[in-house]
Amino acid sequence: MDCIFCKIANGEIPSKKIYENDNFFSILDINQKVEGHSLIISKKHFETLLDVPEDLSLELLDSIKKTAAKIIEEKNADGYNVVNNNSESAGQLVKHFHVHIFPRKKNDKADIFS
Ligand code: AMP
Ligand code: ZN
Repeated sequence: MDCIFCKIANGEIPSKKIYENDNFFSILDINQKVEGHSLIISKKHFETLLDVPEDLSLELLDSIKKTAAKIIEEKNADGYNVVNNNSESAGQLVKHFHVHIFPRKKNDKADIFS
């Protein structure tokens, strides 16, 4: 299967990880909608949130929280959005489960849904 996130997960495409646990890792998004825009990606190929097994729930939450905390501190952000697009109609372009973190600053007028 030709999946860009599987290639990053298995090291075929090199990446700089922000955080990693047994089943998830995070990297900076290649298209920075805001400075520090990050992605949490599952190491295994799941398509949407409904395909992620229940027993990975704590690790998923851990990877989201640790990534958000690191990026918020690094970028001196005031807040953050956690966004997960599922299926084409909802704007999912890469069909491999991932969660976006958008660090936010007061009055930044960021357009994270464009
Ligand atoms: P989505 O619309 O939720 O599927 O978002 C997919 C995201 O993956 C987009 O924000 C892309 O910029 C990002 N993306 C695609 N290829 C790469 C890559 N090689 N490294 C980092 N981010 C990527
Ligand atoms: Zn994949």
